[in-house]
Amino acid sequence: MPTAHEIATLSLKQHLGSAVSTDADALYRASFDGMKLSFLPSAVVSVRNDAHVGSVLKLANLHNVPVTTRGGGTSLTASASPFKGGWVLDMTPLNSVEIDALEGLAHVEAGAIVATVQQSAESHGWMYPPDPSSVKHSTIGGNLACNAGGLRGAKYGVTRDYVVALEGYLPTGERVCWGRPLRKWAVGYNMRDLWIGSEGTLGVITKATLRLIPRPEQKATFLAAFASEEEALNAVIKIAEARFIPVALEFLDTESVSGLENFTGTSVFPECPGAAILLIEIDGNASQIETQRAFLRNTIAPLTKGFRTANSEEEAESFWNVRRKCSPAMFAHGDSKLNEDIVVPLRSQLKLIEFLRTLRTSSGLHIPTFGHAADGNFHVNIMYNRDDANACERAKKAVKELMSAVVSMGGAISGEHGIGLAKSDYLRLQCSDNELQAMLAIKKALDPKGILNPGKIFTPYPAWEKRPEKIRLAWDHRGD
Ligand SMILES: Cc1cc2nc3c(=O)[nH]c(=O)nc-3n(C[C@H](O)[C@H](O)[C@H](O)COP(=O)(O)OP(=O)(O)OC[C@H]3O[C@@H](n4cnc5c(N)ncnc54)[C@H](O)[C@@H]3O)c2cc1C
Repeated sequence: MPTAHEIATLSLKQHLGSAVSTDADALYRASFDGMKLSFLPSAVVSVRNDAHVGSVLKLANLHNVPVTTRGGGTSLTASASPFKGGWVLDMTPLNSVEIDALEGLAHVEAGAIVATVQQSAESHGWMYPPDPSSVKHSTIGGNLACNAGGLRGAKYGVTRDYVVALEGYLPTGERVCWGRPLRKWAVGYNMRDLWIGSEGTLGVITKATLRLIPRPEQKATFLAAFASEEEALNAVIKIAEARFIPVALEFLDTESVSGLENFTGTSVFPECPGAAILLIEIDGNASQIETQRAFLRNTIAPLTKGFRTANSEEEAESFWNVRRKCSPAMFAHGDSKLNEDIVVPLRSQLKLIEFLRTLRTSSGLHIPTFGHAADGNFHVNIMYNRDDANACERAKKAVKELMSAVVSMGGAISGEHGIGLAKSDYLRLQCSDNELQAMLAIKKALDPKGILNPGKIFTPYPAWEKRPEKIRLAWDHRGD
């Protein structure tokens, strides 16, 4: 006797035919994201046209089947893993990109890869600035759902800053357009911004209109080494005080740099091995570049132990590789990591560094930290070995302490990865009951049956760790 769920999946197959897969490999691939916390769905729908989404959601509401939308599956919080089983909407086949060169707009289907959008914009002399490190694998839909940030955030902000209009489906299956492809729109509630960052819990985005900006003429890249982490972060403050806005201002603490140097076998600055580093990138026209260069040469370089300017694209790439290789290099300190993406106000950055030193001592763990210093957004990587039960416990305790400390500094528990399941336990540290009740009321109004990405954001940790359907738990998300 088939279960109600199996009957619903048969009905889905009747409606959408070959777009629906129940093949074991397809189910497994859709069962986890970058956090590698796996829950098996019962079907994966390859979304080939807009209307597929509406049909799936209508059927799901009829039969009470959970639905999880999936883009590139690079989320680091399990926000894309089908926690309660059910059906996964694979948005990647829906991936067209069309540039309106006159209006400076990109009309993009949700499954388009972000790097493709950037390249298409550039081929028309425009630029799409959001630049997450996952740019070659993550989709526009996923970036919108998580309000992704990235490496150019210091100057250009985050995904939300470039969204003009969104199209898609409410959780109950009705089609909606939030905003229109116009430069201005002041009509009704701003539901577009409610969808952005909602981690696929309030609707399914099928198409977006994105704002482009003129492509800068030139860029220049610098690498600076400092006597201490404090000196490096004081340089960040100096940069802010001067109202100087670089494109990127990436900080690497001493533990990250020595880890990287052990990993590669070479010193980034042979004159001061293991020194804290800032990677700085600027852009603009020739005269803007010259003014910014002069500021860096006259004000920042004298504060450093070593200061290098990239003289070619290749050299600039080699500077960026220092930053990129930090992630893999961290695994010299343990086979697993908890990668937190906390934010603190600029004036609390030194306090954070001091706190992390205490945390290393109390936990006995390596905690290399790097990230987007101009935004106060740091990737704090708590490293441990998965087979060492004691170290696992110390790592989880360290995350809890980190989250409390960050909130007490006036910061945020997530700056770009979102909450998903990974950080749901700390949501109550950050948000008041009133705030949570308002969020839950919106969810209830738009998704009365709670079928869209159920359990995400709001389910505290013990509840999800104990689910029997979970087939693998590895706290080893590898991220930026
Ligand atoms: C190596 C690496 C580097 C990273 N670097 C960064 C970084 O620099 N900055 C940053 O912000 N993040 C970064 N991330 C995290 C991740 O890439 C982002 O969160 C990204 O936005 C997820 O996009 P995706 O297409 O992979 O979405 P998925 O992982 O598939 O899904 C993420 C969430 O979006 C929802 N979703 C997906 N598509 C839709 C849609 N069409 N409509 C509604 N909801 C949808 C899902 O349900 C889920 O809740 C990184 C991850 C990795 C693995």
